[in-house]
Amino acid sequence: MPRSRQKPLVKRTQRNHTPSARARRVSHGLSVLEDIGTILSTSHDLQESLESIVRVVAERTSTEVCSLYIYDPRAQSLTLWATEGLNKASIGKVRMGLDEGLTGLVLERLEPVMVVDALAHPRYKYFPETGEERYHSFLGVPVVERKKPLGVLVVQTLRRRRFGGEELRLMKAIAAQVAGIIVQLRLAESLQSKEKERNEYRQRMISAIQQLRAYEQQQDSDAKSEENAGPRAARLVGVPAAPGFGIGAAHVLRPLVSFDQVGELRADNPAAEWERFQNALRRSLAEIEDVKSRMSDRVPEVDSTLFDTHRMMLEDKSFLDKIRGFLDDGFAAETALQFTVDEYVGAFARMSDRYLRERATDVRDIGHRVLRNLLGVEEQTRELPEGGILVAEELTLSDLAAIEAERLTGIALATGGATSHATILAKSFEIPTVVGIDSLLESVQEDDALIIDGNSGAVYVRPSRDVLNEYERLDREYRAFNRELESLHDLPAETGDGHRVTLEANIGLMGDLAFAHRHGAEGVGLYRTEFPFLTYRDFPDEEEQLRLYRRVLDALGTKRVTLRTLDLGADKYPSYVKFTKEDNPFLGWRSIRISLEHPDLFKTQLRAILRASVHGRVRLLLPMICNLEEVERSQELLAEARRELTHEGIPFDEDMPVGIMIEVPSAMMQAEELARKVDFLSLGTNDLIQYLLAVDRNNRKVAPLYEPLHPAVLRAIAATVRAAKKAGRPLSICGEMAADPVCALVLIGLGIDQLSMGSFYIPSIKRLVRSIDYSDAREMARKVLEMSSAQEIKGYLFGMMKKLGVIELMEIYH
Ligand code: PEP
Ligand code: MG
Repeated sequence: MPRSRQKPLVKRTQRNHTPSARARRVSHGLSVLEDIGTILSTSHDLQESLESIVRVVAERTSTEVCSLYIYDPRAQSLTLWATEGLNKASIGKVRMGLDEGLTGLVLERLEPVMVVDALAHPRYKYFPETGEERYHSFLGVPVVERKKPLGVLVVQTLRRRRFGGEELRLMKAIAAQVAGIIVQLRLAESLQSKEKERNEYRQRMISAIQQLRAYEQQQDSDAKSEENAGPRAARLVGVPAAPGFGIGAAHVLRPLVSFDQVGELRADNPAAEWERFQNALRRSLAEIEDVKSRMSDRVPEVDSTLFDTHRMMLEDKSFLDKIRGFLDDGFAAETALQFTVDEYVGAFARMSDRYLRERATDVRDIGHRVLRNLLGVEEQTRELPEGGILVAEELTLSDLAAIEAERLTGIALATGGATSHATILAKSFEIPTVVGIDSLLESVQEDDALIIDGNSGAVYVRPSRDVLNEYERLDREYRAFNRELESLHDLPAETGDGHRVTLEANIGLMGDLAFAHRHGAEGVGLYRTEFPFLTYRDFPDEEEQLRLYRRVLDALGTKRVTLRTLDLGADKYPSYVKFTKEDNPFLGWRSIRISLEHPDLFKTQLRAILRASVHGRVRLLLPMICNLEEVERSQELLAEARRELTHEGIPFDEDMPVGIMIEVPSAMMQAEELARKVDFLSLGTNDLIQYLLAVDRNNRKVAPLYEPLHPAVLRAIAATVRAAKKAGRPLSICGEMAADPVCALVLIGLGIDQLSMGSFYIPSIKRLVRSIDYSDAREMARKVLEMSSAQEIKGYLFGMMKKLGVIELMEIYH
């Protein structure tokens, strides 16, 4: 059986290589080919074989779409023959000439075509029946047999990404297989006798094995020649944490001291060791105070809380008792410290709460600080070369204090998560950042050339000249585009026919404010107060909250700030609020439900917001409202807070507007009644979409179903606009959707004229507003409300964006 002959080939390949990333990819490539071999040996039907092949290719290359187009030489056209990912109903119907679309271009050139954003490519042709407008990146390879074109094999992905050299090689190898199949099976179809047909299969399988061998030999020789040529280029993948492209030399940040260099040391004078330890402790505490004051300007929320955590741990009795115990057992201070830190790190790492788990970093940080002082090593300010890229296992608070983040062009970290300080800092400073990168420190050496793609999460180590050129070009275009957008800073967001739109910023941390100003935000449409709360060690009291809100108001001057009360739960858990695990946290104990169940905590926040209201233009926003009672109960507590403050003689703005988020279908259905109870409405489409479409907003598996342009979503928004109008209340939007140019076009057309979004997106939306006429946007919105599928809506809107000359704005939205 051909299949049994394939096996040893695969095994030999695996044995001959060390288990490097390359070897993994090679064996992965072989397994795709092997699977195709299996399909062929078990199927006798051309259509069935091709369907199975595109499915396997899509699955194994982790692409959302794999399609095969077959060329008809008489009609000189390509027909969609098999697809995984595109609408199956379009099989056999989608036809194109060689001068049409990117697929036509592949056959026209008889060369692979790779495009990161197909929608923006001049040769892109939209076929509404395929539903392919969601897919950005495109790689098509010609299927040829002895220079005769047979078809095109295409893979497409939702995310904008580049396909690597190995993926290209693999696709070519698969296309060669497919060519064999097409020729072979076409032949087989015309053959009369079953016996002859089987011979042909055998023949085809022999050639498949030969191809496999050739492919394998090619891979071996590629690997050898690359090994001889010095360290290989590598492409690593992590989690994108802050957008943009960073190109520069790696600066690998390693701790100044490490417990590994200490080993297990014994000492016979515990009292003397305790004295040494106490001295190191005193120096460490003084350093922490110093670091705290240096950091307070840069990441203000972090100052009084997390550094206090460091201090408190060093003063903690059980921590000190543990050290003492190890000293009494005859260990030196360094080793006693190491054992104690290991115990704590282990305990944190086992915790189920993500926030607490990530605090293991703090304990290691504290441990290194004390160890450095025990060893008498001075703390150093890290001199980073201008334009360098910081590479580290993790970024601790101490590191942050010692680094001039402004000099960096990129950050790459092996660890990191949603609440990690590095992520918070990177976002605040807008440094292109990728976190959670496997085998980062094994792959990168000091001064290695690096590319950080903060949009896709890719990190290129020692990239080839081609990759570098491509990224340099992307970076140049990206910067030029941003510069051009920045020139709009002082211009109003006004359509060609004089309709004014307000563009505000969504903020979470103080660091966001600088960017809100830089990008020309007209105010803050959403201040997610739970974000700073996540960085505290305990629930901040009224005074602390007042200080926090005042800082925002002082920075905003006369600009309006919409302060949203705590929206905890679901995916935002501070360590000091006790949460029990829930099966459906997004449908569970979250947001206003928590606030109303803890009236004391809620009132503390309401009092702090009321007190802040005399220092600026404040609006108060209640999240996750599902019914009238929640509004009424919140208003009772607000009235109580007002009475208390009046009684205490503390001033507040009596006319502070109070609004609610419309982000739950029940609130949307009752929007008019709810609106009459309050002063304004704010549409939270991030949640509204997930609840309306029953699609978890954080679940990658169902991400393609999370569709802002679903007709149901647009009709829900239109209904909310009508309700707000009827009740005579202003309506704004603060969901992500407002930052997407295609969606913003519809939102404005639907009559929403206050949009709040991440500051970064404001310039591109302003450019969009200034490029359109309101009357056209109205007309477009009217049309899309009559359409019955997201595909149809997107096809139409993309066409309009092209027509309006604003399609390139899509580039900036990820
Ligand atoms: C929303 O749901 O659209 C919203 C703005 O709130 P958040 O993203 O904070 O849930
Ligand atoms: Mg929400």
